Amino acid sequence: MDRMTQLVRSGRDLPTDTRPAAINPPVIKASTVLYSNWEMMQSVRSRRDKGERIFSYGAHGTPTTHFLEDSLCTLEGGDRAFVFPTGLSALATVFLTYTKPGDHVAVIDNAYPPVRKLCDEYFANRGVKVSYFAPNPESLSEVIQSETSLVLAESPGSGTFEIVDLPALSKIAHEHEAILAVDNTWSAGVFLQPLLLGADISVQAATKYLCGASDIMMGTIVCKEACAKHIYDVVTLLGIITSPEDCYDTLRGMRSLYPRLKQHEQTAIELANWLNCQDEVAMVLHPSLPDHPGHEIWKRDFSGSSGLFAFGFTDEFVAKTPDFINELRLFGIGSSWGGFESLALPVSPESIRSCGSWDGPNTLVRIHAGLESPGDLIADLQQALAKISQ
Ligand SMILES: *Cc1c(COP(=O)(O)O)cnc(C)c1O
Repeated sequence: MDRMTQLVRSGRDLPTDTRPAAINPPVIKASTVLYSNWEMMQSVRSRRDKGERIFSYGAHGTPTTHFLEDSLCTLEGGDRAFVFPTGLSALATVFLTYTKPGDHVAVIDNAYPPVRKLCDEYFANRGVKVSYFAPNPESLSEVIQSETSLVLAESPGSGTFEIVDLPALSKIAHEHEAILAVDNTWSAGVFLQPLLLGADISVQAATKYLCGASDIMMGTIVCKEACAKHIYDVVTLLGIITSPEDCYDTLRGMRSLYPRLKQHEQTAIELANWLNCQDEVAMVLHPSLPDHPGHEIWKRDFSGSSGLFAFGFTDEFVAKTPDFINELRLFGIGSSWGGFESLALPVSPESIRSCGSWDGPNTLVRIHAGLESPGDLIADLQQALAKISQ
């Protein structure tokens, strides 16, 4: 079956010969879980201690959590999934799992900016060496070392949308016995499956597309079997848990993930093509455009593109970027994309890069194409452009 079908059918409590079932699995809230006898409790706990996912205590998730995890494995093509209170806490857990003092981590220069902060202000102060590499395999080869335990990539990169060759990064990481983790939030797991391209771990801010309604904070890790016990141990040692209601809502959001993403894709391409034809616009950073530097790798590794891209004004108009954003009526001014509403935000790549991997303009407009009509969105861009060109 196609993955689109699998996603609708996975993570469900299907009816049996003896019992009907609701389409959506129930919200099961629990701290204490009861056992019929002490021997049963001991046996369940010992299976859990070996890393088995089993309903045993609220702090290890309830069946609602487990249904969501099953769908996440289906989506990303992984063996085991874990859910977190935010996307950032999922990323932090990857670092906590795979670093100890003396280790080195290699982080892609265009990573989600709070990850850079986490590395520089937390891990670097606790004996972990951090290097950033430009989004290409040669730059990873230059910084990777025998102490490297973890490589973190993001493709396309936050704000600037460079595409990186993940199979090549995976080869280099594995030659050094390092884990490759990929932030897969942009593709939502619909258009890219990093685990099938050699990554060990795929992370998402489910806050974005999986939820799809801008009202839940949630992070996900999907990994290969070899990583499952390592991550499980850290998750349980730290007592990380998400609410069953949020798991329920995220799973419900995922049922419509494919059709939503197809619409985000189509609208973003229409907006990108329109912007590309405007005199005031110097560049559009969208991997599906044939002149995008990563276009060939994108075509090879991705099956489509999501709703997030950026563009930059010409020198004459770049100073008017804030005015342009203020003039927009349908595009909200807000950071957390992936919902149904369109958003526009200025980004300044230079302030979030450290190894010279960005030499374009220092002010871009990041656009999230929502689920409004593309014609209305283009009309809105047009009237805002007219205002700043007066
Ligand atoms: C938003 C985002 C995150 C963090 O997600 P939160 O749920 O807001 O913590 C991580 N990576 C990327 C690429 C993001 O866009």
